[in-house]
Amino acid sequence: MNLLNNYAAKLDELKQQGNLRQFTTNIQDGRNIQINQQSMLNLSSNDYLGLGSNLHLREQFFDETPNEHRIMSSSSSRLLTGNFPEYEQLENSLSDAFHGRAALLFNSGYHMNIGILPALSDSKTLILADKLVHASLIDGIRLSTAKYLRYRHNDLNHLIQLLQKYHVDESFDRIIVVTESIFSMDGDESDLSELVQIKQQFNKVMLYVDEAHAIGVRGEQGLGCAEQYDVVDEIDFLVGTFGKALASVGGYLMCHPIVREYLINAMRPLIFSTAQPPICMAWTHFIFQKALKLSTQRQHLHAISQSLQHTIQHKGFECPSTSHIVPVIIGDSQKTVEKAKQLQHAGFYIMPVRPPTVPKNSSRLRICLNTQIDQTDLDQLVEML
Ligand SMILES: *Cc1c(COP(=O)(O)O)cnc(C)c1O
Repeated sequence: MNLLNNYAAKLDELKQQGNLRQFTTNIQDGRNIQINQQSMLNLSSNDYLGLGSNLHLREQFFDETPNEHRIMSSSSSRLLTGNFPEYEQLENSLSDAFHGRAALLFNSGYHMNIGILPALSDSKTLILADKLVHASLIDGIRLSTAKYLRYRHNDLNHLIQLLQKYHVDESFDRIIVVTESIFSMDGDESDLSELVQIKQQFNKVMLYVDEAHAIGVRGEQGLGCAEQYDVVDEIDFLVGTFGKALASVGGYLMCHPIVREYLINAMRPLIFSTAQPPICMAWTHFIFQKALKLSTQRQHLHAISQSLQHTIQHKGFECPSTSHIVPVIIGDSQKTVEKAKQLQHAGFYIMPVRPPTVPKNSSRLRICLNTQIDQTDLDQLVEML
């Protein structure tokens, strides 16, 4: 028991600060979610296009997929016996959509981000990362032997200052700039066009951009902010995940074929983990093809997002968002938790986000919109704020 006291004390402390995390049992029901017998409008899901909750699509997929193709395990890494045709089909479709660039798949976005940077870096690599990049990227950076510094969030002047200082430093062969396109907690965006221009001024620089929240949502075909700003070919490591708008699971990298081949030889989470079940690959492929054609849904999402951002600002809250992820920043953790409870009670499933996920004193309600929400829902929600 002595060995557990320490953990118990830490848990008590978290509880007192209002920062304790717990699982709840979630039953999905279309655009609603049921928790403890209560049905609420789901405003916390990453199912941004409503594809995950679409029963019709699921039926169509299983109708089209005969039993002999419903393979539930790959039983090994792709480098042993796990490289089923489903992997190559998905990679080929991704390549076709992303201007012929090479595609490589990963078991999850987390695997992707903890694996790529350590494989590509050595002690002569410098990583410059935006201050607010996702935990998986931070973990990847920590696992690497690169030196690393963080630039102030979306402050490209700060980035340029660091580049000017370190680009001439002979101890570095390579500088990798790491950022996201849409940021998961503030819902704001990096300026990809500007980042590409900056990169082009420094010949040692490579650009790594995580589109986890933008894939499916941005661009005419939903290929992300890189498509929207026409820089697909300029980003050295363009990554994203299938677990959010694309209603599946896994991560992808679009890159030069040499990078792909190098990672197959050097990236530990890719080499030493059983590959995803082929049926997941087939489903991702099915969904990816559908998602390319959903531009009407993307326009709707854009319209309701802008409407909510404006209303929240109008109500006097700080709201940095320019996307479908719309935080209402309250500050104090307890107050945020109470407000979230109140909204849940009123039928809106909105979750509080607290430190350490976000910086101290920036606890917030995080509203994630999806294509199944309409203006009437928002009007009712805003009343409650
Ligand atoms: C969700 C997310 C990930 C992790 O992806 P998973 O497929 O869920 O492991 C990586 N990066 C960002 C920015 C994310 O938001």
